[in-house]
Amino acid sequence: MKILVINCGSSSIKYELFQMEDEMVIAKGLVEKIGTESAIVTYQVTGKEERMETAEILDHREGLNLVLRLLMDEKEGVIKSKNEVTAVGHRVVHGGEYFSKSAIITSEVRQAIRKTIDLAPLHNPPNLLGISAAEQQLPDATHVAVFDTAFHQTMPKRSFLYPLPYVLYTRHKIRRYGFHGTSHKYVSEKAAAFVGKPLSDLKVISAHIGNGASVTAIENGISTDTSMGMTPLEGLMMGTRCGDIDPAIVPYVIAKEDLTLSEIQSMMNKHSGLLGVTGMSSDMREVTEAMEEGNEQAKLAIQMYLYKLRKTIGAYIAAMNGIDILLFTAGVGENSTYVRQEVCNNLSFFGIEIDTTQNNIRSKEVREISTPNSKVKVLVVPTNEELMIAREAKQLVDQS
Ligand code: AMP
Repeated sequence: MKILVINCGSSSIKYELFQMEDEMVIAKGLVEKIGTESAIVTYQVTGKEERMETAEILDHREGLNLVLRLLMDEKEGVIKSKNEVTAVGHRVVHGGEYFSKSAIITSEVRQAIRKTIDLAPLHNPPNLLGISAAEQQLPDATHVAVFDTAFHQTMPKRSFLYPLPYVLYTRHKIRRYGFHGTSHKYVSEKAAAFVGKPLSDLKVISAHIGNGASVTAIENGISTDTSMGMTPLEGLMMGTRCGDIDPAIVPYVIAKEDLTLSEIQSMMNKHSGLLGVTGMSSDMREVTEAMEEGNEQAKLAIQMYLYKLRKTIGAYIAAMNGIDILLFTAGVGENSTYVRQEVCNNLSFFGIEIDTTQNNIRSKEVREISTPNSKVKVLVVPTNEELMIAREAKQLVDQS
């Protein structure tokens, strides 16, 4: 069975074609700058060189059409006809309270995704564009929506409600939803398999730290708290996002700096975090290099970043009254030995002990970086959201 996974942004389509028998990626690529005369298309068959071309691509439908032409290309293609694609897994950012798991896309499902546009105005509209483009291009395939928020729908009210007038929840569904759910689910399952215990018997803290970052508390296999909220702005300090701040700052800065609401939104989402504090970069690798070269502002930004991350992990250990596994994933979590070391050094009170040699090993496999004496297993678990989306789609196809 072949499953195409697509992740659509406002001007992009990221795609991967999976062969589900061995869960291998057969081909993958990216269409960028959709809506322009010089859209960039990359296409790579596994084991071969990446191919890149520019073309006029005016919308997602044209973009997907080109992707399918590449996949079916006589010389470099990997399928002979569209019918070989059994299912398409669509990454959908926000499922609101409608979806606690992935769903085969029907008109009701599409309608529910549309109803959550208010909650994710930047993400759900392009996700819907991708869905309709794929349905047009692959009418015989099963289309499945996999939601970033679904895994967190198990959170109890005490963790998902904001202490605002309750009517805001009942009337407008203002609550915490959480994101990166597909990743947190994938890595927590991997971690449990690695330690050879059922996830349902474990208390896991999953730190997905990339450009966007969130920490999730997973108890008995379900998400019971997570650091992102109604939007992906809440929680940790991130590459360009501020994370938690006093909400009273918003009207104050609007008045003092004579900003509009959309300007302050942009400031908090795109010009804060590592970028805001350093004034230089949102990229952890660059900020770490600058710190090593003696840049004081970079040092401060990293100290703030680590402090907030540590506090959040500590809060979830308290919330769960314990922890069995702490895992790191995504760009920073998988690659920054420094961040992992610094976070864990200051969690020694909980019996967390890192093995420096293990922590410095680079690998694409799941690995343990804690010492044999550590009370908590600390793991690095490479995430793979695309594979998780493909698995979810396959499961729904198998059940239908
Ligand atoms: P992601 O959003 O998961 O792709 O993660 C992107 C982030 O991972 C960026 O801030 C990168 O700088 C960071 N990253 C990738 N490799 C490294 C590395 N070797 N050391 C520190 N940060 C890294």
